[in-house]
Amino acid sequence: MSAKKEKYCLITNDVETTSLWNHILSDKTGEIVLKEGMPVLLEAYKRYDIKATFYFTGHIAKLYPDIVRMIVPDGHEVGCHGLTHESDKAFDKLTLEQQIDHLTRSKEILENICNQEVVSFRAPALRINQFTPEALEKTGFLIDSSVAPQRMDMFLSFGSMNKLQWIFAPRQHYYTREDNLTRSGSGKIFEIPINAMFLPYTGTMMRISPFMTKMTRYFLVKETSLFKHPMVFLIHPNELIDEEITETKVNRRAKNFFSYMLGDKLRYHLKLKNLGTKAIPLFEDQLEYLQKKNYAFVTTSQYYNIFK
Ligand SMILES: [Zn+2]
Repeated sequence: MSAKKEKYCLITNDVETTSLWNHILSDKTGEIVLKEGMPVLLEAYKRYDIKATFYFTGHIAKLYPDIVRMIVPDGHEVGCHGLTHESDKAFDKLTLEQQIDHLTRSKEILENICNQEVVSFRAPALRINQFTPEALEKTGFLIDSSVAPQRMDMFLSFGSMNKLQWIFAPRQHYYTREDNLTRSGSGKIFEIPINAMFLPYTGTMMRISPFMTKMTRYFLVKETSLFKHPMVFLIHPNELIDEEITETKVNRRAKNFFSYMLGDKLRYHLKLKNLGTKAIPLFEDQLEYLQKKNYAFVTTSQYYNIFK
């Protein structure tokens, strides 16, 4: 039997110092992620026999190297989530040289900690631009997972103009163009898209609307069975931790009123829903559901090695 006949599921985790409770980046949050969020994930993956991929920012890895070290014994993959999650240093704002610099530095931080080659990348906030494929290729990355085809909630997030390209991105894995990760072409970067059926299949969506998530995953499971797409679920350990609310006003990052209301205010309030330990049973429900659907749980690199 060919391995390609199986249905694959990639459980992906973005590990960073974002405090969702306070809408800021905070090293203290990173510490709670290390001590509380990560153990919840690792324990659940052990129970469901899941090999997952963790994308770390260079910042959190440097701050708490144990957060990277702790995933290695269980056979999970260490991936790169850029150097920093600061909004003004998102990849869609960086030049080619700056992207190469960020990728080189974060890759080195991670590889020095985990003693394995890091070849998978997910951009912070999924923000990428025309230089990203070349920057990835020049720094030894093989796989990207920053594109969410047909995901339509981009106006709730930053860099939404670039994300309009998601509308026409392929739904199956593909080699990207040399100047565009959202299109297939003759480049060397292998894209594994993040599942969406208008709405994304992510921890955030799972918390905002458990009902819509059930609908979304129902269609995605049908689709992945029919077309052999991989199922890619995205969660953050910082979604599973409780924190004290210290910042009461919403940080205004948007330039105009419209995107302030949508991008900052609405997003902030939505993101508090079912946040923290309340999200753990919702998360377990996803794992249980996916396991019942008989997916083979693989890491990003394992998937790449089967289909490259
Ligand atoms: Zn992130």
